[in-house]
Amino acid sequence: MVESKASSSAELGLSTSIMSRTAAVAQVASAYAAKESSTVADILELVDGLSRALYLAEQGAQTQVPAQPEVAHPPKAAVPAVAIEDAVQDDKVVCLCCGQSFTMLKRHLKAEHGLTEDEYRKMFSLPASFPLVAPAYSARKAEYAKQAGLGKHDRRT
Ligand SMILES: [Zn+2]
Repeated sequence: MVESKASSSAELGLSTSIMSRTAAVAQVASAYAAKESSTVADILELVDGLSRALYLAEQGAQTQVPAQPEVAHPPKAAVPAVAIEDAVQDDKVVCLCCGQSFTMLKRHLKAEHGLTEDEYRKMFSLPASFPLVAPAYSARKAEYAKQAGLGKHDRRT
C-alpha cells in the first residue's frame, strides 16, 4: 500500500510534462481531497486514473487531427465478382454480384440480390444491351419459337 502510494506520486511527478493536464488533475484532486471521507489512497488512485484518462484523451485528440488530407474514396460502382468480359459466355452468364453462373440472371438477381435487371446494369455500369441471358440459350429459345416441331437447325443469328 505504502509502496503503491509512493510510486503513484513519483509517476505523477515524472509524467506531468504537460501543464494543462497536471492542473486539471490537481484541481479535481484537491476538490476530492476536500471531502472528509476521502483517504489519501483514494486521492492517489483518483489522480492516477485521471492522469491516465487525460493522457488517453490527449492522444485521442491528436489522432483526430488528420496529418494529411484524407484520400477521397469515391463511391465507386460495385466491384464485379468476375471480369465483365468474362461474365457472358456462350452457354451461361455469370452473376457479377456473387460469381455464380446461370442461363439467365433475371430470377437470380431478384431472388438473391433483390435487384432488377436495370438496377444490376447500373450497379456495374453495364450497357443496356448487356446480355443477362446466355446467348446460346436465348438463341435456342428463339429457334424453338420460330421452328417448333420442325427439328433442329443450327442457325445462329
Ligand atoms: Zn448472384
